[in-house]
Amino acid sequence: YTINMEQLQLFEDLGKGTYGVVKRVLHKPTNVAMAMKEIRLELDQAKLNAIIMELDILHRAVAPEIVEFYGAFFIESCVYYCMELMDAGSLDKLQGAGVPEDVLARITASVVRGLRFLKDELQIIHRDVKPTNILVNTQGQIKLCDFGVSGQLEKSLAKTNIGCQSYMAPERIKGESQNNVGTYTVSSDVWSVGLTVIEIAMGYYPYPPETYANVFAQLTAIVHGDPPELPDQFSDVAKDFTSRCLQKNPQNRATYSQLLEHRWLVEDTARTVDVTGWVVRAMEWKRQQWNPKPEETIGGP
Ligand code: ATP
Ligand code: MG
Repeated sequence: YTINMEQLQLFEDLGKGTYGVVKRVLHKPTNVAMAMKEIRLELDQAKLNAIIMELDILHRAVAPEIVEFYGAFFIESCVYYCMELMDAGSLDKLQGAGVPEDVLARITASVVRGLRFLKDELQIIHRDVKPTNILVNTQGQIKLCDFGVSGQLEKSLAKTNIGCQSYMAPERIKGESQNNVGTYTVSSDVWSVGLTVIEIAMGYYPYPPETYANVFAQLTAIVHGDPPELPDQFSDVAKDFTSRCLQKNPQNRATYSQLLEHRWLVEDTARTVDVTGWVVRAMEWKRQQWNPKPEETIGGP
C-alpha cells in the first residue's frame, strides 16, 4: 500500500528547512493527518527510485521515540515524504519558553532511547541530532525524525557548507576539513546529544554566531575550546550528564547504555513529569512571539 499525491489534501506550511518545506496534509482514504516533507533534488529517475527504496526500511522504525513513517513518493525531481504529524512541532521553536529540569531530563531520556533503538534494532546512526529534529506533541510524546537511512539521499543532500549552527562533533569537523567522511561513528551522535540538551536548556545555540568573527572562528572554538556546560540553575547530576556527552575525544564519551544508566536518567524514570503541561505553556509562549496581542486601546469607543 503506497501513498500518492492524489490521496492528499494540502494545508499550511509547518516549517521550512534547508532543502524544502514541511506541510500539514490530510490522507483522505484513511482520514489521517500527516506531515509531508518536500525535498527538491536535481536527480535522475534511477536515483530517485533508489531513494524511495532505501526509505522503505523506515517502515521498520517503529518505536515510541521515533516519528512514524507513512510512505514516500516522487514527482518530477521532488521527493515527498509523509510522516506522523507532531502537533507541537520541533523543540527549537519551544525552547525559548524556558525548560524545567524534569522536562529536560525526560526529553533527553526519550532522545537517548530513540537513538539506542535505531542503533541496536536497525544499525542506523542518526547523523543529524539537533533541536529541529526532535518533535513533540500535546500528548507529551517526544520523538526523533530525519535520521540517515538512505545513502543516496544523504549523498544528494551533501552539505556544501556546514552552516552557522554546527552540531557536528569535533572529530567530524576535523574530518570534513580533511575531506574525510569515514570518521562518523555512533559517538559523534553522543556529542550532538550533549550540545542539543544544552541548547534546549539555554534557549539558544551554545556557540552563538554573533560571538565569533566568522564561521572558521566558531568551528575552531568547537574543535579547540572547552565544551559548553549547562547553566548554573541546573543540578550537578545534569551537568555531569552533559559533560559525559561533550568529551572532545570520542573514545571518552559515554555509550547509550551508560547514558541510560546515568543517575539523571534513572531518576527521570522514577518520576511523573507533566510534559503536556510544559508543551501547552511553551506553545502559548511561541504564539505570543509570533503575534503579540495588540496594545489595549485606551478609552475605547
Ligand atoms: P535542516 O533543513 O537544517 O535540517 P530542519 O530540521 O528545521 O532544518 P526540516 O526537516 O525540513 O528542516 O523541517 C522544517 C520544520 O518543519 C522543522 O523545523 C519542524 O518545525 C517542522 N516539522 C518537520 N517535521 C514535522 C512533523 N512531523 N510534524 C510537525 N512539524 C514538523
Ligand atoms: Mg529536520
